[in-house]
Amino acid sequence: MTDSPHVLVVGGGSTGTGIARDLAMRGLGVTLVERGNLTHGTTGRMHGLLHSGGRYAVSDQPSAKECIEENRVLRDIAAHCVEMTGGLFVQKPDDPDDYFQEKLDGCRECGIPAEELTADEAREIEPYLAKDVERAIKVPDGAIDPFRLCVANAASAQEYGARIETHAEVVDVLVEGGEVVGVEVEHDSGPGKRVHRTPGSTEKIRADYVVNASGAWAGQIGEMAGVEVAVRPSKGVMTIMNTRQVDTVVNRCRPKGDADIIVPHETTVILGTTDEEVEDPDDYPEEQWEVDLMIDTLSELVPILKKARTIRSFWGVRPLYEPPGTGTVDPTDITRDFFLLDHEERDDLPGMTSIVGGKFTTYRMMAEKISDHVCAQFGITATCRTADEPLPGSEDFSVLRDYMDEFGLRSPIGRQSVQRLGSRADEVLKTGEPNPVVCDCEAVTRAEIQDGISQSGSDLNALRIRTRASMGNCQGGFCCHRMAAELSPEYDEPTAREALDELFQERWKGERHALWGEQLSQAMLNYALHATTMNLDGDPAAMDEALDFAAFDGGAGVGAGEGESGQSGATAADGGTRKHERGER
Ligand SMILES: Cc1cc2nc3c(=O)[nH]c(=O)nc-3n(C[C@H](O)[C@H](O)[C@H](O)COP(=O)(O)OP(=O)(O)OC[C@H]3O[C@@H](n4cnc5c(N)ncnc54)[C@H](O)[C@@H]3O)c2cc1C
Repeated sequence: MTDSPHVLVVGGGSTGTGIARDLAMRGLGVTLVERGNLTHGTTGRMHGLLHSGGRYAVSDQPSAKECIEENRVLRDIAAHCVEMTGGLFVQKPDDPDDYFQEKLDGCRECGIPAEELTADEAREIEPYLAKDVERAIKVPDGAIDPFRLCVANAASAQEYGARIETHAEVVDVLVEGGEVVGVEVEHDSGPGKRVHRTPGSTEKIRADYVVNASGAWAGQIGEMAGVEVAVRPSKGVMTIMNTRQVDTVVNRCRPKGDADIIVPHETTVILGTTDEEVEDPDDYPEEQWEVDLMIDTLSELVPILKKARTIRSFWGVRPLYEPPGTGTVDPTDITRDFFLLDHEERDDLPGMTSIVGGKFTTYRMMAEKISDHVCAQFGITATCRTADEPLPGSEDFSVLRDYMDEFGLRSPIGRQSVQRLGSRADEVLKTGEPNPVVCDCEAVTRAEIQDGISQSGSDLNALRIRTRASMGNCQGGFCCHRMAAELSPEYDEPTAREALDELFQERWKGERHALWGEQLSQAMLNYALHATTMNLDGDPAAMDEALDFAAFDGGAGVGAGEGESGQSGATAADGGTRKHERGER
């Protein structure tokens, strides 16, 4: 491929990894640079709904048609990232009849399979729906795992020769003679087995063409090149509940509003969302009222949510864009369509195009359009194959089923492992070693953890993204340290300790917004496990002292205070004195 044009893609979200895959498959040389991990931006902070298009069937029919088309494609090429839960648009007494009918008609006009259900039929599917639900429309919504999908796209791009460079932030866009000729990146230390550049070092990467796929940050890259890309970042909150209270995507059937969708995800459901314009995609308030709004409003649809435990909340920013002069004030009215901004046509700056707007569900189509555009710059006629060629690990569902049969994996744990691994299940799970469950909530076994470590190295956050370990009910309380222990003996103790700290900090970020009720108890338990038991809040200096194990083994009078142990003389297994043996309760 040395003679093929070299394209540099900025951004490792769904759009950037999709573009890298498409261009690499068409034979172009590709480098993708991402300032964080893959999915670091909005893609790692979205609702996980594989749209059927039903949501846009009234307000934006072209988008609705794209969604149903891509919904079908992703079910084929990314079977191991999609769970076809189905979806319901549910009407409550104060939701307008006219709108219900418009939704039904709109779905049919857009080719979205849609069936009207009575309240009883809807409750047969979702027994926890509110008693006053009047009727519903059934559509093929699904749940999609953005982490797995992005990794699969990047892996595929790499198989086709692309260079995927994470932890490489673009700090400048190189413009020479009025033309974009590449970017300058600053390297950071990052996870994974790849050879990392020296943190803090910079690298100028020259390219024949640059694609700015940095989402809500596209304006910043534009500014570096001297052009204006007026992205209008809009934030939304999502709240994760402790169990899977519904198995179907539940939407409120009304024109528009905050907090109108519940998406089942693995062992949880995610409530969402809001839509509020922000100035800076890296700095915006995360407020409690937003979380409260999710729970209060969505429990009108599914009342048990009010009593359920919320385990964390997180926020994302949409990379919305509208052409200059449109003048939309309300961000909910800004189109969800995507735009290619060819800076040669638009700003007289050849060598770079930005792609903004759009949705996760339509990422592949967006990638196809921009890859067509890039190829046209070089007179390349290779056609797009991303809609036909399955992503790594996702040949088809029957492969998945065969693997489950082969391993006798009928248990929920085995089923989940095989669903996550897809066609790699054989390779990963065929182990002669003991294979206990490391993460109980998400049912992730040691074999998967070891496989993840072999691919992402000592970064436990990268391991989390690959496997989902630590993303369940306990939010890592019971498994973070087990994950860290799996780093041994390949990695030394300071590396494992640092990785554990990073993972635990990441988990804590979202838990901060769920500190009440049972989740508060869980957080206290997590604190006790990690800070107290593991002495993580201890004096770091004390950690250097050698432990006197004899003090533990020596029994009463050694580990415990003299006077205390002397009271009964009974020795517990840990060398202390059992309270009840001293007559205490
Ligand atoms: C609250 C919310 C809910 C959503 N729910 C859904 C949903 O359910 N279904 C759906 O289809 N869509 C949904 N979306 C929309 C969807 O998430 C986004 O459209 C999509 O993820 C955008 O992907 P992207 O790759 O364009 O951007 P991003 O994922 O943000 O990727 C851009 C990347 O560029 C990187 N970057 C930025 N600056 C630099 C730099 N200087 N150097 C190198 N890299 C840089 C960032 O770190 C980032 O990783 C939702 C969005 C939000 C906010």
